[in-house]
Amino acid sequence: MTPDVRPLVAGNWKMNGLRAALDEIKQIADGVDGSLSEKVETVLCPPSTLLYVATALAEDSPLQIGAQDCHHHNSGAYTGDISAEMIADLFASHVIVGHSERRKDHAESDALVCAKAEAALNVGLQAIICVGETQAERDDGQTLEVLARQIEGSVPEGARAENTIIAYEPVWAIGTGLTPTTGDIAIAHEFLRARLKERLGDEGARMRILYGGSVKPSNAREIVAIAHVDGVLVGGASLKATDFLAIFGAY
Ligand code: PGA
Repeated sequence: MTPDVRPLVAGNWKMNGLRAALDEIKQIADGVDGSLSEKVETVLCPPSTLLYVATALAEDSPLQIGAQDCHHHNSGAYTGDISAEMIADLFASHVIVGHSERRKDHAESDALVCAKAEAALNVGLQAIICVGETQAERDDGQTLEVLARQIEGSVPEGARAENTIIAYEPVWAIGTGLTPTTGDIAIAHEFLRARLKERLGDEGARMRILYGGSVKPSNAREIVAIAHVDGVLVGGASLKATDFLAIFGAY
């Protein structure tokens, strides 16, 4: 945790969730009560097909709703894409950009991720920018170099602590049940904090840095206690309301 920074727990449903899953969203929204939200900010990112209904379900809850990706233009001839402006128009507040599954499966570069983050900030969304090394990069001892490059290339100049969140997600830890040691997470987060401060000054000192990759109720408490871990980005364990709410219990 960074002193005086309100932590954030975000759920990423990826390409999961039919209409039947709206019950889970309702349960999550109902489970985020006032006393919890004093301690921690909460966001759920369902697939875009459920976004509009999800924002309605969470209307009376402190739970915020986000999208998982956006296009870097606001409108135009981009079949199948969804713009940041469209996401904001559905009353969503956040958007994840640069998730490793997008970087890998859609060949997204740092420059494109940066443009998407800028598009999000321009319409008043908060951008959750993901960074993280692959197993091969880790084996090669490249972790910190990769993180430095991604922070430099993916975080826009206009990023502020109020509108931008960084998520450190080691690619090899996503969906595998594997997590780095608490010592390794601490090293990565301390390094990210230093790079953010260098690039953005005081804004970088206060910007939240989440950890993501196989976070579950049983390891959340230990992870959120690490210095400079200002919350978690949760994939698989955010799909069931009971698991996701149990992770909030780490605070
Ligand atoms: P996981 O996914 O929690 O299922 O490992 C995290 C993510 O990809 O954001």
